[in-house]
Amino acid sequence: MMHVTAAFWPERIKRIVFASIPIIETHSLAKTYASGVFRRRTTQALTDIDLVVQKGEIFGILGPNGAGKSTLLNILMGLITPDAGTACILGECVTPRFSQAIKRRMNMSSGNPNFPWCLSVREMLTFYGLLYGVPLKELRSRQEDLLSLLELRDNADTRYDELSTGNKQRLALAKSLINDPDILLLDEPTLGLDPDISQKIRRRIRALHQEQNKTILLTTHYMKEAEELCDRVAFIKTGRIIALGTREELQAMTKTRDMEEMFLELAHQ
Ligand code: ADP
Repeated sequence: MMHVTAAFWPERIKRIVFASIPIIETHSLAKTYASGVFRRRTTQALTDIDLVVQKGEIFGILGPNGAGKSTLLNILMGLITPDAGTACILGECVTPRFSQAIKRRMNMSSGNPNFPWCLSVREMLTFYGLLYGVPLKELRSRQEDLLSLLELRDNADTRYDELSTGNKQRLALAKSLINDPDILLLDEPTLGLDPDISQKIRRRIRALHQEQNKTILLTTHYMKEAEELCDRVAFIKTGRIIALGTREELQAMTKTRDMEEMFLELAHQ
């Protein structure tokens, strides 16, 4: 009997089969930051966020700077605690006692990576691989694959603080793949990059989705990125989801011709 892996299923079939397997779910999620020592200020970063991301989907969180996108991803990774509501991954709520088994099936790449400055690219991948509990032999071969995949081989021994912005981004993406996660959270994956490098990174993300069927939640404020990559998008403004659906659904709702126009329309509502 011939087995056909999900990676080779046509997109339409994948959508039907996986449509009912929620991977990421949030209910009434809220977060307020308090800042200032003498003058206390509060910022309502997220309010009432209800979201379901299905297996095998690339889901985009769109919104202007300060909309709450990074806060949402950080809550899903367990890096920030919400004030109210729940965030669940694979049916388990994210809490300080969140299971290691699920944690090892996810990873996140930040558009503004903040890695130890003195480690080289290769050392960084080893460091994070060990943190994720990747067995050493597997780690070595995955590290080499990622250096090739993200075109970092020539800079493998370069220290982090000596890398160009584009290579820092590639390293952030490589780090997020070191444990071969099923669930990938990408925070502004092409922030501040030249158009040709952004294009290459988008191609890599699409390939990860199509060939390895990873579930990807990405944030961006570049409409082109959302247009090229996402199956569905949620538009966030001042911490609230104000629209959610496929590109076609959102364009019909806002009566706009493309994502750029749709973004402007929603941002000014
Ligand atoms: P985005 O990723 O969409 O740019 P963020 O999630 O980073 O938005 O921020 C949402 C809001 O929360 C912004 O108004 C930001 O200034 C505020 N914020 C983020 N982090 C903190 C923090 N640690 N302390 C106080 N305010 C914060």
